[in-house]
Amino acid sequence: MSNNFQLIETIISHLKQSFPNATYELDWETPLQLLVATILAAQCTDERVNKVTKTLFIKYPNAQSYTQVDILELEQDIKPTGFYRNKAKTIQSVCQQLVERFNGEVPNTMAEMVTLPGVARKTANVVLNTAFNMSSGIIVDTHVLRVSQRLGLTKNKNPEKIEQDLMKLVSQDEWTFFGPAVVLHGRYTCTAKNPKCLECNLQTVCEKINIEV
Ligand code: SF4
Repeated sequence: MSNNFQLIETIISHLKQSFPNATYELDWETPLQLLVATILAAQCTDERVNKVTKTLFIKYPNAQSYTQVDILELEQDIKPTGFYRNKAKTIQSVCQQLVERFNGEVPNTMAEMVTLPGVARKTANVVLNTAFNMSSGIIVDTHVLRVSQRLGLTKNKNPEKIEQDLMKLVSQDEWTFFGPAVVLHGRYTCTAKNPKCLECNLQTVCEKINIEV
């Protein structure tokens, strides 16, 4: 186990060299904006989400405003992000709950966040880690899932089990850095197809599971 802890320390120090100020690439100013942007970011690039939210956040300034619009109109407003029918439904249901149970505000605990419709630990962690600066857990999105497996930090496939494995390895004061940093590493270096192992600063410690180089 101590080897694993040494390994994770090396990984974190290399990630800090590459991404000293690692943060999510979604644009937001309030916890609600980050929550909505995170819902829209499923199966979509952050760049495209940021284009859509530029006008969306002006049109919908609070949770109540999302609940008062016809769903067909909301669907059109978010259409470029894909899967817009489901996303519009989720945003309206989440905002309805925020208005009814939380006075229109995004709650700042994991226990409350995951009671919101369609909000699992990943989305909750993005909001809690980033908007509230809380070490609630480690975000496990598609990038973190893939990179953690390749590095040999987990043998699990389920995001919540992977998060548990990572939370045991990474010290809690690094959780809010580790998630965004691994997302960026996965987005730009350890890409799904053709990972750039030869230029990767983790290559000496990486087990390269399921990678042919
Ligand atoms: S060495 Fe290759 S597989 Fe390992 S983290 Fe770097 S890019 Fe990913």
